[in-house]
Amino acid sequence: MNITEVKTELLDVTLESYQLKLMAGTSGNASVYHKETEAMIITPSSVSYDGMTIEDLVVMKLDGTILEGKHDPSSEWKMHAQVYLDREDISCVLHTHSPFATGFAVCQEGIPVILIEMVPFLGGDVPVAAFGMPGTAELGLEALKVMRDRKGCLLANHGTLAIGTSIRRTFMSSIYLEDAAKIYHIAKNAGDVKVIPEEQIEAMRNS
Ligand SMILES: [Zn+2]
Repeated sequence: MNITEVKTELLDVTLESYQLKLMAGTSGNASVYHKETEAMIITPSSVSYDGMTIEDLVVMKLDGTILEGKHDPSSEWKMHAQVYLDREDISCVLHTHSPFATGFAVCQEGIPVILIEMVPFLGGDVPVAAFGMPGTAELGLEALKVMRDRKGCLLANHGTLAIGTSIRRTFMSSIYLEDAAKIYHIAKNAGDVKVIPEEQIEAMRNS
């Protein structure tokens, strides 16, 4: 994909995330690392999602040098950059404050494997990363510590993070993270939650 195609897909996923209420106000942010040009394309800071266009996206280097853009990059750009610096296999990062998942992030309680979709889309259970100061690379470092073989995690007292190799697939990880949190919340209130046994999880990973 060329940069314009990447920008278009990133914007589409960002706006769909907003419409699905995974992000509220101007919270949340999304980025793609375009390996061919060694550039990160990221959503801007404090710009309303309503009416956002690809011209509002910021193109920058991982060291913070701005290459293109009329706005400041997301205040969480260091978290995104840290993921790309540490994980060459990852090219998309999506950060939301989706309400059910963030509720568990506030309780610093992970989500066990309760639904089959969690295996392909999240890599298993959803762990909680230790609290990191907003706007710092530490936030990315803490998330990576718990996401070695996972595609999503909770950021303590903050929100969610999903990582992946395609924008659409990373978006699906964010959707299933919120879905798992919502259903886990309902199940906890409905009765005694039963998790999927490790043996079955392993069989699904290998199937
Ligand atoms: Zn945030």
